[in-house]
Amino acid sequence: MTVSPDYCWSCYKDEPFPTTGGVYIVCFECGHIYVTEQDLVDAYNLEIQEINRQSARERADGFEHLYSSGLPELPMKTSGDSIRFCQHCLHDF
Ligand SMILES: [Zn+2]
Ligand SMILES: [Zn+2]
Repeated sequence: MTVSPDYCWSCYKDEPFPTTGGVYIVCFECGHIYVTEQDLVDAYNLEIQEINRQSARERADGFEHLYSSGLPELPMKTSGDSIRFCQHCLHDF
């Protein structure tokens, strides 16, 4: 099997590089394309929401002793400046 150079190993499909307008960032590990900064921010915040939901569930399930340090909810981001890794494969940019 030959793999397209546009193949994204996180999404398991080709993600063709847009021919106009450029892209915000490309993960060179898995090939995922974040076309806009907002794409990266959204992907990051989705993960954060999931982690916070998971923490809330575990607290509700009686695992609050794991949070004796008072682990705060993780903050969402509004810009991609401080997001330094691919949200799909966790590889550093
Ligand atoms: Zn990646
Ligand atoms: Zn992808």
